[in-house]
Amino acid sequence: MLCGARRVELLWVVAGLWGAVCGTASGVGLSTLSVVCPVCDHAFETLVYDGQDTRGGVTRDLFARALGPQSIYYLISTCPKCYFSGYLDDFQSKGRVDAALRNKILKSPKLRPATAISTTMKPDEIPAATRYALAAQVFDWRNCSEEARAWVYLRWAWVVREDGSYLPPTSALMMAMREIEPRLPAAQAGVNQGDRELEAVNLLTADWMEGSFDAALDPYVRLVLALVLRRHGENEQSGHLLGGLKGIVLAEPLPGAIAKMEASIAEERRLLFAAREHFELAVSRHEVRPENEGAAKYLLGELYRRTGDPEHARTWYEAALGDSKLDGQLRNWAQQQRAGLAIANAVGGSR
Ligand SMILES: [Zn+2]
Repeated sequence: MLCGARRVELLWVVAGLWGAVCGTASGVGLSTLSVVCPVCDHAFETLVYDGQDTRGGVTRDLFARALGPQSIYYLISTCPKCYFSGYLDDFQSKGRVDAALRNKILKSPKLRPATAISTTMKPDEIPAATRYALAAQVFDWRNCSEEARAWVYLRWAWVVREDGSYLPPTSALMMAMREIEPRLPAAQAGVNQGDRELEAVNLLTADWMEGSFDAALDPYVRLVLALVLRRHGENEQSGHLLGGLKGIVLAEPLPGAIAKMEASIAEERRLLFAAREHFELAVSRHEVRPENEGAAKYLLGELYRRTGDPEHARTWYEAALGDSKLDGQLRNWAQQQRAGLAIANAVGGSR
């Protein structure tokens, strides 16, 4: 039984589809599919995400966001009876799992979901983060490839990011949004929405630092900037902006929402560390297919940068740039990120 092999390859394909980066949607929808658990033979219906929608933009760590439901929420299915979890392939592979794995799942140490699951639950009633946590445990017990395990952790991190990118639209926050909107760059056909958002954040941050917003709106502009950066997983900057709100009295429900966002940043960081570790092993053991090695090295640069290790990030961006098969878009991004690290280093050194 392979570990979601098709799903591992698919994301590299997505990363290479740079037409898709411009934002397309085709045949997108959710459908139900009957499956049988290969561990306990329980038959249940799972949800399948069909088509591809990248109109929400692609982040620098390759999370292709949809405008509607996000595909990553439907990639992992969980048996509501024994909690066996994996990609659809894992429920459709021929044959049942071996006795040793079945024993681990059913008896000892036994799969234990982070949130309660009952046999009557529909697939989307089980939180995606719970399903990914179970799949990561199953992939570990199955000794799946490092690359397959890395993808489960990275996608789980994206789910945590997406769940954690939320602030309630209070009247003060909406007022700040109305002030911000006219300053945003216009959407351009053929431009990655993710790149547009990052450009907007840079412009707004410059405006904000120059004091061009009403002082009363200051904390709310700060919150909007933190939210956009959180959506991109640019958590160091987002956390820094949120940290600057300490001591400022905001009306509920904002303080509770900010605390949730900060907790999600910590959880994402834990998962990115795990993804980083597994990707690095996959690359060092030459498990990654040669045509995907450049993309894997670029991604390692991103994961090191996002986990606060600029030195190793630079090493991996350079390794990616040294790979003649690296995709042109990833080459641009690797060059930009490497330059960004050099600027941050120069600024840090001059303090
Ligand atoms: Zn089962």
